[in-house]
Amino acid sequence: MAQQHPLPDPNLDWESFNFSLNGVRTAKMWLDSVVDDQPFSDDNNDKLVEFGNLSLSPTATVLNYGQGLFEGLKAFRRADNTIVLFRPERNALRMREGAERLCLRPVDPDVFVTAVDAVVRGNAKYVPPYDKGALYLRPMLFGSAEDLGVKPSSKCTFCVYCSPVGNYFKGGLKTIRLKAISHYTRAAPGGVGGVKAIGNYAPAFFVQRMIKQEGFDEALFLDSTRTYIEEAGASNFFVVKNDKLFTPSLESLTILPGVTRSSIIELAGMLNLDVSEAKVTIGDIRSASEAFCCGTGASITPVGSITVEQDEIVYGTVAGPITQKLFDMLKSIQLGTDSDLAAKYSHWVHVVRP
Ligand SMILES: *Cc1c(COP(=O)(O)O)cnc(C)c1O
Repeated sequence: MAQQHPLPDPNLDWESFNFSLNGVRTAKMWLDSVVDDQPFSDDNNDKLVEFGNLSLSPTATVLNYGQGLFEGLKAFRRADNTIVLFRPERNALRMREGAERLCLRPVDPDVFVTAVDAVVRGNAKYVPPYDKGALYLRPMLFGSAEDLGVKPSSKCTFCVYCSPVGNYFKGGLKTIRLKAISHYTRAAPGGVGGVKAIGNYAPAFFVQRMIKQEGFDEALFLDSTRTYIEEAGASNFFVVKNDKLFTPSLESLTILPGVTRSSIIELAGMLNLDVSEAKVTIGDIRSASEAFCCGTGASITPVGSITVEQDEIVYGTVAGPITQKLFDMLKSIQLGTDSDLAAKYSHWVHVVRP
């Protein structure tokens, strides 16, 4: 009989999982450090280690200067007990671009994919049952030398850990309420908003806490001129108007180039929907019929309303038809439920061998 992945751990309450560690201590992580211009290696036997704490000098550049990157991607268990990663090479390429911007040693994309594949295999019993969530992988790359100088670290660490997470929506898509933020911005032209720098999230915590107290679910950030829509805190943004999709262009380098975003653009093409990647204004969101956010965490999140100052622009309490269609397509490609679609997009999944 062909080799099979272990089944999901029967002692875990998968239904209760959300986006957190869910009280689970996973088994293995990938850990490798290199100095100077040594390359990262893909040696499975050596780099896949027991999950545990890191030992780091307090002088490491990641702690002092934020010289670090992170990634996020998911592994799904399909009905036939195969396990697939969704487009891991996209995350690998994005991390390589970020490494260049932050003067970190690059991780070769093949090494990146080998590492995430090994981490999934080493934690296969933590990949949730079919359609009960995913194993979320968190690769990190950071400066780790013992070195006070204000300069790029001479030592870099690449680490990949994982956590099982639940489906973001249990029982149908629900809409969220966004608040457009004009006072605080997430990224500025020439900065690092276009790469997954570790420091990009903390400045948004304050804004998120503030808007949650006002009863909103997410912040919608505008550009540094407070004129154009950029993205929600950790997800990209689309509106639908007259069967056409509009999403802010990546040109300004202030928007994170999401893997989900680019997948949606391709799927829209397949549905013969036009996609405009250009500036998106408050006027555009006012005249739209649907809006949604997208990212690895929640896949596609339909937006029910956007509040701009005192004015609430309402789309409704259920996902619009195009939002729902794109969500269903993405999900069936990941879970392999529609065989025609799964075959057409088989290059979007990386099969993890048992
Ligand atoms: C990671 C991230 C996204 C979503 O990217 P995906 O690759 O689709 O997960 C969007 N915005 C920001 C700021 C992010 O950090």
